Amino acid sequence: MVKEHNESWIPFNHPRRESLIIREMLVDGFKAGYVATQGLIAHGRGECFDYLIGEVSIPPALTAERIAVAVLLTAKHPVISVNGNTAALVPRQIVKLAGLVNARIEVNLFYRTREREELIAKVLRDNGAEEVLGVGDDASCVIPELFSERRRASCRGIYVADVVLVPLEDGDRTEALRRMGKTVIAIDLNPLSRTSRAASITIVDNVVRAIPNMIKFAEELRNWSRDELVNMVRGFNNDENLRSVLRYIVDRLNKLANEDFLIEFPKQQ
Ligand code: ATP
Ligand code: MG
Repeated sequence: MVKEHNESWIPFNHPRRESLIIREMLVDGFKAGYVATQGLIAHGRGECFDYLIGEVSIPPALTAERIAVAVLLTAKHPVISVNGNTAALVPRQIVKLAGLVNARIEVNLFYRTREREELIAKVLRDNGAEEVLGVGDDASCVIPELFSERRRASCRGIYVADVVLVPLEDGDRTEALRRMGKTVIAIDLNPLSRTSRAASITIVDNVVRAIPNMIKFAEELRNWSRDELVNMVRGFNNDENLRSVLRYIVDRLNKLANEDFLIEFPKQQ
């Protein structure tokens, strides 16, 4: 079922080639039935913010990624939450990261249907996951204050987790998880979203860069002692880090506003 996405039509020298390939991965996930229509729209919002940061992992993102890995490594019961977009974009990398930090993987959908749950679990298993929580009857615990299918979580996973990594999560659910006393690590390109503001650690980066970066940090930090990791985390302030993201964007846009950055074309005769 995990097939190569169709990128054959994208010219090799297309200036937006990488971004177009990412779109193809989502379209394939959509056609396969596990990316929600709304997921395609959410991706567009993410792309907009990615343009503003220059489509690179900016220094405050790298800081948050490193801290997030330290928090995952010191957690008692870490869980990585996976939705349709994440499964379409970084399935192999999610499984690898989960292995390195000893986290469980749980399917967690905003638009939950049995079919999508099972398809996502299959994508993850095809990419090496041994166990995927949150499918069918496994998602029988209830996150307080949320309504409809969105509140369901695995009683062995997110419900009892002390640390939850939520790539591309919704604000409401992030807030509900925080109110349950959990440490929430969000990956969200929009530094102004409710998710970004409510999370304990906010990684403002594209999930396609964030997860590979976190794998590298995990390979380094897993050899550190618990005390060293705890000390590193102690110095981190999420509000301050989010302010650094906004300052980065403001400075970048100011620089661009003072430069000749428009594309020049030959004058017409
Ligand atoms: P919130 O509910 O937190 O206030 P929202 O309702 O604006 O945010 P949602 O649709 O709930 O947004 O969540 C999608 C979020 O995921 C958006 O903020 C978008 O910027 C972000 N996003 C989309 N694609 C990516 C990606 N590839 N990497 C990281 N973030 C992404
Ligand atoms: Mg939302």
